[in-house]
Amino acid sequence: MTTQHLNTKIIHSIPVDELTGAISVPIYQTSTFVQEAPGVHKGFDYSRSNNPTRKVLEDLIANLEEGDAGFAFASGLAAIDAVLKLLKSGDEILACDDIYGGSFRIFTHIYEKFGIKVNYVDTTNIQNVVDNINERTKFVWIETPTNPTLKISDIRAISAIAKTVDALLVVDNTFASPVLQQPITLGADIIIHSATKYLGGHSDIIAGAVVTKTKELSAQLKFIQNSSGGILGPFDSWLLIRGIETLPLRIEQHSKNAEKVAEFLSHQSTIKNLYYPGLVSHLNHDVAKKQQSAFGSIISFSLQEDTIEAAESLVTSTQLFKLAESLGGVKSLICHPAQMTHKSIPDEKRKASGVSDSLIRLSVGLENADDLINDLKQAFNQVKNTQTQKAFASSVC
Ligand SMILES: *Cc1c(COP(=O)(O)O)cnc(C)c1O
Repeated sequence: MTTQHLNTKIIHSIPVDELTGAISVPIYQTSTFVQEAPGVHKGFDYSRSNNPTRKVLEDLIANLEEGDAGFAFASGLAAIDAVLKLLKSGDEILACDDIYGGSFRIFTHIYEKFGIKVNYVDTTNIQNVVDNINERTKFVWIETPTNPTLKISDIRAISAIAKTVDALLVVDNTFASPVLQQPITLGADIIIHSATKYLGGHSDIIAGAVVTKTKELSAQLKFIQNSSGGILGPFDSWLLIRGIETLPLRIEQHSKNAEKVAEFLSHQSTIKNLYYPGLVSHLNHDVAKKQQSAFGSIISFSLQEDTIEAAESLVTSTQLFKLAESLGGVKSLICHPAQMTHKSIPDEKRKASGVSDSLIRLSVGLENADDLINDLKQAFNQVKNTQTQKAFASSVC
Protein backbone atom coordinates (compact mmCIF):
# COMPACT_ATOMS: atom_id res chain seq x y z
CA MET A 1 0.00 0.00 0.00
CA THR A 2 1.26 3.49 -0.76
CA THR A 3 1.94 5.71 2.25
CA GLN A 4 -1.18 7.43 3.45
CA HIS A 5 -1.73 11.12 3.86
CA LEU A 6 -1.88 12.45 7.42
CA ASN A 7 -5.68 12.87 7.57
CA THR A 8 -6.28 9.30 6.33
CA LYS A 9 -3.67 7.95 8.72
CA ILE A 10 -5.21 9.75 11.70
CA ILE A 11 -8.81 8.79 10.98
CA HIS A 12 -7.97 5.12 10.42
CA SER A 13 -5.44 4.69 13.21
CA ILE A 14 -8.40 5.11 15.59
CA PRO A 15 -9.53 1.48 15.85
CA VAL A 16 -13.07 0.16 15.50
CA ASP A 17 -14.14 -1.49 18.79
CA GLU A 18 -13.34 -5.21 18.47
CA LEU A 19 -16.02 -6.33 20.89
CA THR A 20 -19.05 -4.57 19.38
CA GLY A 21 -17.98 -2.99 16.09
CA ALA A 22 -18.68 0.50 17.48
CA ILE A 23 -17.11 2.94 15.03
CA SER A 24 -16.63 5.54 17.74
CA VAL A 25 -14.22 4.61 20.54
CA PRO A 26 -16.20 3.48 23.61
CA ILE A 27 -15.75 5.55 26.76
CA TYR A 28 -14.52 3.03 29.33
CA GLN A 29 -15.76 4.92 32.37
CA THR A 30 -14.39 2.41 34.88
CA SER A 31 -11.82 2.49 37.66
CA THR A 32 -10.98 -1.21 37.75
CA PHE A 33 -11.15 -4.38 35.63
CA VAL A 34 -12.22 -7.88 36.70
CA GLN A 35 -9.39 -10.42 36.66
CA GLU A 36 -9.72 -14.14 35.85
CA ALA A 37 -7.13 -15.06 38.44
CA PRO A 38 -4.75 -12.77 40.39
CA GLY A 39 -2.67 -10.95 37.79
CA VAL A 40 -4.46 -12.59 34.86
CA HIS A 41 -6.37 -9.93 32.89
CA LYS A 42 -6.91 -8.49 29.42
CA GLY A 43 -4.10 -5.92 29.68
CA PHE A 44 -5.96 -3.55 31.99
CA ASP A 45 -6.08 -3.75 35.77
CA TYR A 46 -6.62 -0.21 37.12
CA SER A 47 -7.45 2.98 35.18
CA ARG A 48 -4.66 5.14 36.61
CA SER A 49 -2.17 2.67 35.13
CA ASN A 50 -4.01 2.08 31.88
CA ASN A 51 -7.46 2.69 30.45
CA PRO A 52 -8.66 1.48 27.02
CA THR A 53 -10.08 4.88 25.95
CA ARG A 54 -6.95 6.72 27.08
CA LYS A 55 -4.78 4.09 25.37
CA VAL A 56 -6.40 4.78 21.98
CA LEU A 57 -5.68 8.47 22.50
CA GLU A 58 -2.08 7.88 23.63
CA ASP A 59 -1.31 5.64 20.64
CA LEU A 60 -2.88 8.25 18.35
CA ILE A 61 -0.76 11.08 19.73
CA ALA A 62 2.43 8.99 19.48
CA ASN A 63 1.52 8.24 15.88
CA LEU A 64 0.86 11.91 15.10
CA GLU A 65 4.25 12.98 16.45
CA GLU A 66 6.18 10.01 14.97
CA GLY A 67 7.25 9.04 18.49
CA ASP A 68 7.59 5.74 20.37
CA ALA A 69 4.83 6.33 22.94
CA GLY A 70 2.27 8.92 24.00
CA PHE A 71 0.99 9.85 27.45
CA ALA A 72 -2.17 11.80 28.23
CA PHE A 73 -2.37 14.10 31.25
CA ALA A 74 -5.00 16.20 33.01
CA SER A 75 -3.47 19.45 31.65
CA GLY A 76 -0.52 20.77 29.69
CA LEU A 77 1.12 21.69 32.98
CA ALA A 78 0.62 18.17 34.36
CA ALA A 79 2.43 16.94 31.23
CA ILE A 80 5.26 19.43 31.85
CA ASP A 81 5.41 18.38 35.51
CA ALA A 82 5.80 14.71 34.52
CA VAL A 83 8.66 15.52 32.13
CA LEU A 84 10.45 17.58 34.81
CA LYS A 85 10.36 14.52 37.10
CA LEU A 86 12.91 12.86 34.80
CA LEU A 87 15.47 15.23 36.37
CA LYS A 88 17.27 15.11 39.69
CA SER A 89 18.74 17.71 42.01
CA GLY A 90 21.80 19.43 40.46
CA ASP A 91 20.54 19.05 36.90
CA GLU A 92 20.12 22.13 34.70
CA ILE A 93 17.72 23.21 31.99
CA LEU A 94 18.61 25.61 29.21
CA ALA A 95 15.31 27.19 28.20
CA CYS A 96 14.06 29.71 25.65
CA ASP A 97 13.58 33.13 27.25
CA ASP A 98 10.14 33.67 25.72
CA ILE A 99 8.67 30.67 27.55
CA TYR A 100 5.00 30.08 28.47
CA GLY A 101 4.28 31.77 31.83
CA GLY A 102 3.04 28.56 33.47
CA SER A 103 6.28 26.78 32.52
CA PHE A 104 8.29 29.63 34.02
CA ARG A 105 6.20 29.40 37.19
CA ILE A 106 6.64 25.65 37.68
CA PHE A 107 10.40 25.88 36.93
CA THR A 108 10.90 28.77 39.34
CA HIS A 109 8.47 28.19 42.17
CA ILE A 110 8.25 24.39 42.27
CA TYR A 111 11.42 22.82 40.84
CA GLU A 112 14.12 25.35 41.82
CA LYS A 113 13.60 24.44 45.47
CA PHE A 114 14.40 20.82 44.56
CA GLY A 115 17.77 21.96 43.19
CA ILE A 116 16.99 22.23 39.49
CA LYS A 117 18.48 25.30 37.85
CA VAL A 118 17.07 26.94 34.73
CA ASN A 119 19.01 29.30 32.45
CA TYR A 120 17.06 31.35 29.92
CA VAL A 121 18.48 32.47 26.59
CA ASP A 122 17.13 33.70 23.27
CA THR A 123 17.26 30.37 21.41
CA THR A 124 16.45 32.00 18.05
CA ASN A 125 20.17 32.83 18.07
CA ILE A 126 22.00 29.47 17.94
CA GLN A 127 25.20 30.99 19.34
CA ASN A 128 23.38 31.64 22.66
CA VAL A 129 22.69 27.91 22.93
CA VAL A 130 26.31 27.01 22.12
CA ASP A 131 27.60 29.55 24.68
CA ASN A 132 25.31 28.54 27.54
CA ILE A 133 25.05 24.77 27.34
CA ASN A 134 27.26 22.81 29.76
CA GLU A 135 27.80 19.28 31.07
CA ARG A 136 25.11 19.75 33.76
CA THR A 137 22.51 20.70 31.12
CA LYS A 138 20.10 17.76 30.94
CA PHE A 139 17.29 19.43 28.98
CA VAL A 140 17.28 22.07 26.29
CA TRP A 141 13.68 23.29 26.47
CA ILE A 142 12.15 25.27 23.64
CA GLU A 143 8.82 26.49 22.36
CA THR A 144 8.57 27.36 18.70
CA PRO A 145 6.64 29.46 17.76
CA THR A 146 6.60 31.26 21.13
CA ASN A 147 3.77 33.09 22.81
CA PRO A 148 2.85 35.83 21.96
CA THR A 149 5.56 37.26 19.68
CA LEU A 150 5.94 34.03 17.65
CA LYS A 151 9.71 33.70 17.73
CA ILE A 152 10.97 30.64 15.84
CA SER A 153 13.92 28.49 16.96
CA ASP A 154 15.73 26.09 14.64
CA ILE A 155 14.86 22.64 16.05
CA ARG A 156 17.39 20.68 13.96
CA ALA A 157 20.30 22.99 14.79
CA ILE A 158 19.49 23.07 18.51
CA SER A 159 19.13 19.29 18.62
CA ALA A 160 22.67 18.95 17.24
CA ILE A 161 24.03 21.21 19.99
CA ALA A 162 22.10 19.36 22.73
CA LYS A 163 23.67 16.08 21.56
CA THR A 164 27.19 17.40 22.16
CA VAL A 165 26.58 17.26 25.94
CA ASP A 166 24.05 14.37 25.88
CA ALA A 167 21.20 16.69 26.83
CA LEU A 168 17.68 15.90 25.68
CA LEU A 169 15.80 18.35 23.48
CA VAL A 170 12.29 19.01 24.82
CA VAL A 171 9.93 20.84 22.46
CA ASP A 172 6.62 22.30 23.62
CA ASN A 173 4.81 21.86 20.29
CA THR A 174 1.51 23.43 21.42
CA PHE A 175 1.58 26.43 19.06
CA ALA A 176 2.53 24.55 15.88
CA SER A 177 0.68 21.25 16.42
CA PRO A 178 2.03 18.07 14.77
CA VAL A 179 0.29 19.03 11.54
CA LEU A 180 2.64 21.97 10.98
CA GLN A 181 5.78 20.54 12.57
CA GLN A 182 6.97 17.17 13.90
CA PRO A 183 9.93 17.96 16.16
CA ILE A 184 10.96 14.29 16.68
CA THR A 185 11.67 14.01 12.95
CA LEU A 186 13.91 17.08 13.36
CA GLY A 187 15.90 15.62 16.27
CA ALA A 188 13.82 16.33 19.41
CA ASP A 189 13.59 13.70 22.16
CA ILE A 190 10.44 14.69 24.05
CA ILE A 191 7.34 16.54 22.84
CA ILE A 192 4.88 18.34 25.09
CA HIS A 193 1.39 19.54 24.22
CA SER A 194 -1.17 21.61 25.93
CA ALA A 195 -3.91 19.58 24.22
CA THR A 196 -6.29 22.22 25.58
CA LYS A 197 -5.39 24.25 22.47
CA TYR A 198 -5.23 22.86 18.89
CA LEU A 199 -5.37 19.11 19.62
CA GLY A 200 -8.69 19.49 21.45
CA GLY A 201 -9.58 22.36 19.15
CA HIS A 202 -13.01 23.24 20.51
CA SER A 203 -12.21 25.16 23.73
CA ASP A 204 -14.02 22.50 25.75
CA ILE A 205 -11.32 20.57 27.68
CA ILE A 206 -8.11 21.02 29.66
CA ALA A 207 -5.64 18.30 28.70
CA GLY A 208 -1.95 17.65 28.12
CA ALA A 209 0.25 15.15 26.31
CA VAL A 210 3.84 13.93 26.18
CA VAL A 211 5.42 11.98 23.33
CA THR A 212 8.76 10.21 23.76
CA LYS A 213 11.23 9.25 21.06
CA THR A 214 12.92 6.19 22.57
CA LYS A 215 11.76 3.01 24.36
CA GLU A 216 13.93 3.96 27.33
CA LEU A 217 12.27 7.38 27.75
CA SER A 218 8.84 5.81 27.22
CA ALA A 219 9.42 3.36 30.09
CA GLN A 220 10.53 6.22 32.37
CA LEU A 221 7.53 8.40 31.47
CA LYS A 222 5.15 5.46 31.93
CA PHE A 223 6.56 4.94 35.42
CA ILE A 224 6.19 8.65 36.29
CA GLN A 225 2.65 8.85 34.88
CA ASN A 226 1.54 5.88 36.96
CA SER A 227 3.46 6.95 40.07
CA SER A 228 2.37 10.60 40.10
CA GLY A 229 -1.06 9.94 38.64
CA GLY A 230 -1.91 13.17 36.76
CA ILE A 231 -3.78 11.22 34.07
CA LEU A 232 -6.57 12.31 31.71
CA GLY A 233 -9.98 10.75 32.46
CA PRO A 234 -11.86 8.53 29.98
CA PHE A 235 -14.46 11.11 28.92
CA ASP A 236 -11.91 13.87 28.26
CA SER A 237 -9.74 11.30 26.44
CA TRP A 238 -12.72 10.58 24.19
CA LEU A 239 -13.31 14.30 23.53
CA LEU A 240 -9.65 14.70 22.64
CA ILE A 241 -9.77 11.75 20.21
CA ARG A 242 -12.79 13.38 18.57
CA GLY A 243 -10.94 16.69 18.33
CA ILE A 244 -7.85 15.10 16.78
CA GLU A 245 -9.91 13.40 14.05
CA THR A 246 -10.33 16.80 12.37
CA LEU A 247 -6.92 18.24 13.33
CA PRO A 248 -5.38 18.35 9.82
CA LEU A 249 -8.54 19.87 8.36
CA ARG A 250 -8.77 22.50 11.10
CA ILE A 251 -5.10 23.45 11.06
CA GLU A 252 -5.17 23.88 7.29
CA GLN A 253 -8.16 26.23 7.50
CA HIS A 254 -6.83 28.03 10.60
CA SER A 255 -3.60 28.77 8.71
CA LYS A 256 -5.38 29.94 5.55
CA ASN A 257 -7.62 32.26 7.56
CA ALA A 258 -4.69 33.64 9.54
CA GLU A 259 -2.69 34.35 6.38
CA LYS A 260 -5.57 36.46 5.07
CA VAL A 261 -6.03 38.28 8.37
CA ALA A 262 -2.27 38.94 8.63
CA GLU A 263 -2.29 40.34 5.08
CA PHE A 264 -5.13 42.69 6.03
CA LEU A 265 -3.35 43.78 9.22
CA SER A 266 -0.13 44.49 7.31
CA HIS A 267 -1.94 47.42 5.62
CA GLN A 268 -3.30 48.98 8.83
CA SER A 269 -1.60 52.29 9.56
CA THR A 270 -2.62 52.14 13.25
CA ILE A 271 -0.42 49.04 13.71
CA LYS A 272 3.22 49.45 14.75
CA ASN A 273 4.69 45.92 14.89
CA LEU A 274 3.03 42.91 13.32
CA TYR A 275 4.13 39.39 14.27
CA TYR A 276 3.20 36.46 12.04
CA PRO A 277 5.80 33.87 10.93
CA GLY A 278 4.18 33.62 7.50
CA LEU A 279 5.09 37.22 6.65
CA VAL A 280 8.39 37.68 4.83
CA SER A 281 9.00 40.60 7.19
CA HIS A 282 8.98 38.27 10.25
CA LEU A 283 12.44 38.02 11.83
CA ASN A 284 12.53 34.19 11.69
CA HIS A 285 10.45 33.66 8.52
CA ASP A 286 13.19 31.57 6.85
CA VAL A 287 13.46 29.09 9.73
CA ALA A 288 9.66 28.86 9.97
CA LYS A 289 9.47 28.10 6.26
CA LYS A 290 12.12 25.41 6.60
CA GLN A 291 10.60 23.48 9.52
CA GLN A 292 6.85 24.20 9.33
CA SER A 293 4.39 23.21 6.58
CA ALA A 294 2.31 26.37 7.21
CA PHE A 295 2.34 29.20 9.76
CA GLY A 296 -0.53 28.59 12.18
CA SER A 297 -3.28 30.88 13.38
CA ILE A 298 -1.75 33.08 16.05
CA ILE A 299 -1.05 36.69 15.08
CA SER A 300 0.17 39.44 17.40
CA PHE A 301 0.49 43.17 16.82
CA SER A 302 1.19 46.37 18.72
CA LEU A 303 -0.39 49.76 18.05
CA GLN A 304 1.17 53.08 17.06
CA GLU A 305 -0.46 54.47 20.19
CA ASP A 306 1.36 52.03 22.48
CA THR A 307 -0.87 52.26 25.55
CA ILE A 308 -2.97 49.91 27.69
CA GLU A 309 -6.01 52.11 26.94
CA ALA A 310 -5.64 51.97 23.16
CA ALA A 311 -5.35 48.18 23.26
CA GLU A 312 -8.26 47.86 25.66
CA SER A 313 -10.48 49.92 23.44
CA LEU A 314 -9.67 47.71 20.43
CA VAL A 315 -10.11 44.35 22.20
CA THR A 316 -13.50 45.45 23.52
CA SER A 317 -14.67 46.59 20.06
CA THR A 318 -14.60 43.27 18.18
CA GLN A 319 -17.71 41.12 17.96
CA LEU A 320 -16.65 37.84 16.33
CA PHE A 321 -13.26 37.84 18.06
CA LYS A 322 -14.21 37.05 21.66
CA LEU A 323 -12.12 38.51 24.46
CA ALA A 324 -10.60 35.49 26.22
CA GLU A 325 -7.35 33.75 27.14
CA SER A 326 -6.31 30.51 25.42
CA LEU A 327 -6.17 29.72 21.70
CA GLY A 328 -6.58 27.08 19.04
CA GLY A 329 -10.38 26.67 19.13
CA VAL A 330 -12.97 27.03 16.38
CA LYS A 331 -14.08 30.46 17.68
CA SER A 332 -11.72 33.37 17.10
CA LEU A 333 -10.30 34.92 20.26
CA ILE A 334 -8.63 38.24 21.02
CA CYS A 335 -6.45 38.80 24.06
CA HIS A 336 -4.53 41.68 25.66
CA PRO A 337 -1.46 39.97 27.19
CA ALA A 338 -0.39 42.96 29.34
CA GLN A 339 -3.67 42.76 31.25
CA MET A 340 -4.38 39.04 30.83
CA THR A 341 -1.90 36.21 30.14
CA HIS A 342 1.22 38.24 31.03
CA LYS A 343 -0.23 40.30 33.89
CA SER A 344 1.90 38.58 36.57
CA ILE A 345 5.18 39.41 34.77
CA PRO A 346 6.84 42.64 36.02
CA ASP A 347 6.27 45.49 33.49
CA GLU A 348 9.95 45.97 32.60
CA LYS A 349 10.55 42.25 32.02
CA ARG A 350 7.34 41.97 29.99
CA LYS A 351 8.24 44.92 27.76
CA ALA A 352 11.81 43.64 27.28
CA SER A 353 10.40 40.39 25.86
CA GLY A 354 8.45 42.34 23.24
CA VAL A 355 5.08 42.31 25.01
CA SER A 356 4.48 46.04 24.92
CA ASP A 357 1.49 47.75 26.58
CA SER A 358 -0.58 47.71 23.40
CA LEU A 359 0.35 44.21 22.19
CA ILE A 360 -2.74 42.28 21.11
CA ARG A 361 -2.89 38.56 20.32
CA LEU A 362 -5.37 36.98 17.95
CA SER A 363 -6.24 33.30 17.76
CA VAL A 364 -7.81 33.13 14.32
CA GLY A 365 -10.66 30.61 14.33
CA LEU A 366 -12.63 28.79 11.68
CA GLU A 367 -15.19 31.44 10.73
CA ASN A 368 -15.08 32.87 7.20
CA ALA A 369 -11.90 34.95 6.86
CA ASP A 370 -13.72 37.88 5.19
CA ASP A 371 -16.15 38.09 8.12
CA LEU A 372 -13.21 38.14 10.52
CA ILE A 373 -11.51 40.90 8.53
CA ASN A 374 -14.74 42.93 8.51
CA ASP A 375 -14.98 42.51 12.27
CA LEU A 376 -11.44 43.85 12.74
CA LYS A 377 -12.15 46.69 10.27
CA GLN A 378 -15.18 47.89 12.22
CA ALA A 379 -13.23 47.62 15.49
CA PHE A 380 -10.34 49.74 14.11
CA ASN A 381 -12.89 52.30 12.83
CA GLN A 382 -14.70 52.41 16.16
CA VAL A 383 -11.41 53.11 17.95
CA LYS A 384 -10.46 55.79 15.41
CA ASN A 385 -13.85 57.51 15.86
CA THR A 386 -13.59 57.60 19.66
CA GLN A 387 -10.05 59.00 19.35
CA THR A 388 -11.27 61.74 16.97
CA GLN A 389 -14.14 62.58 19.32
CA LYS A 390 -11.76 62.74 22.27
CA ALA A 391 -9.37 65.01 20.34
CA PHE A 392 -12.29 67.23 19.33
CA ALA A 393 -13.62 67.41 22.92
CA SER A 394 -10.20 68.39 24.30
CA SER A 395 -9.71 71.03 21.57
CA VAL A 396 -13.02 72.79 22.35
CA CYS A 397 -12.58 73.01 26.12
C1 LIG B 1 -1.52 26.68 27.49
C2 LIG B 1 -0.10 26.27 27.38
C3 LIG B 1 0.50 25.40 28.32
C4 LIG B 1 -0.25 24.93 29.56
O1 LIG B 1 -1.27 24.05 29.24
P1 LIG B 1 -2.59 23.85 30.13
O2 LIG B 1 -3.37 22.87 29.34
O3 LIG B 1 -3.24 25.19 30.27
O4 LIG B 1 -2.13 23.33 31.46
C5 LIG B 1 1.81 25.02 28.11
N1 LIG B 1 2.52 25.46 27.05
C6 LIG B 1 1.98 26.30 26.14
C7 LIG B 1 2.82 26.78 25.00
C8 LIG B 1 0.67 26.74 26.27
O5 LIG B 1 0.15 27.58 25.37
